[in-house]
Amino acid sequence: MNEEQELRVKRIENGTVIDHITAGQALNVLKILGIPDSSQGVVSVLLNSPGKFGIKDVVKIEKRELNVREVDRIALIAPNATINIIRNFNVSQKKKVHIPIFVEGVVRCVNPNCISNSNEPVTSKFNVSVDGCLRLRCTYCGRFISEDIAKHLL
Ligand SMILES: [Zn+2]
Repeated sequence: MNEEQELRVKRIENGTVIDHITAGQALNVLKILGIPDSSQGVVSVLLNSPGKFGIKDVVKIEKRELNVREVDRIALIAPNATINIIRNFNVSQKKKVHIPIFVEGVVRCVNPNCISNSNEPVTSKFNVSVDGCLRLRCTYCGRFISEDIAKHLL
C-alpha cells in the first residue's frame, strides 16, 4: 500500500469525518472549526478526492465531535457535506448538513457602512435563503451576499 492509499483508508478511533465537502472548500471548513488552534487530535485533509459524484474534499478530525452550530456553518460553504461521528472505529452517527435559516457572528457584511462593521459591539446577523443559490441577507442593512461566502467568513 502506498502512502496515499494508506491516508485514504486510515480509520480513526474517535472523532469526526466530514465527507463530500465541495472541492476546494476543505481549508475553509478548517477555518470554521478553528483548526489548528482548537484541536488536540490529528487532522487529515484530503483534497480533490474522486468520489461517486465527482471530486470532493474530505476532512478527518480525531478526538473531536462537532456541535450543531459548527455543522450549520459548514453547510454554508459545503451544502452537500456529510458528518460522520466516529466512536471506537465505528460510524455512530451519520448526518447531512442542513442549511440554517439564520446565522449570527459567522459572516462579515459586505457593506462597509453597516452597523455590524462599525466599532459598536454589534454581532453580524443574516437570514439565509436558498433559491437556486444560497443567499445571505444582512438583518441590519439588507445587503445580500450570494457569492464567495467563504471569503466573508469571520
Ligand atoms: Zn449589513
